[in-house]
Amino acid sequence: MPFIPVILWTDALIYLLLALIALFVWYVRGRPHLVAPWRRVAQSKSGMVAATVLAAYLMAGLLAQEGISTRVFNENAQGAMGEIPFTQAYPEVWVVEDAQFTRARGILNEFESSAPTATLTVCDRCGEQNPGNFELCWQCGEALS
Ligand SMILES: [Zn+2]
Repeated sequence: MPFIPVILWTDALIYLLLALIALFVWYVRGRPHLVAPWRRVAQSKSGMVAATVLAAYLMAGLLAQEGISTRVFNENAQGAMGEIPFTQAYPEVWVVEDAQFTRARGILNEFESSAPTATLTVCDRCGEQNPGNFELCWQCGEALS
């Protein structure tokens, strides 16, 4: 009985997504002006600037559960990335009441320290720090141990 490989279209979309991510990483690697902001993102300690709009709303939701009002800014600025400075296109979560900022910061710190990204793995090849749940170095693609 001959072996006939079958690729489901949902699998094909996953492979396409992975290929696009790999292509994006490859594209960014060769351009220092694109690597620098991503490096800054990876090293940022600020919980008020989120990597994605989804993460911004996750933080806003987390704070809302604790009764802290927030506003998410720049949620629609992602499309302008490349046209305007990277740092200005980034989603931001702002605490409405100044008096609640310290408490909000504490809640986010607690969340960040319990997340799988709290630990960092240093790449053996390039020395880049990667979130603990990464299997490949985001900078050079080397397998992380
Ligand atoms: Zn690396």
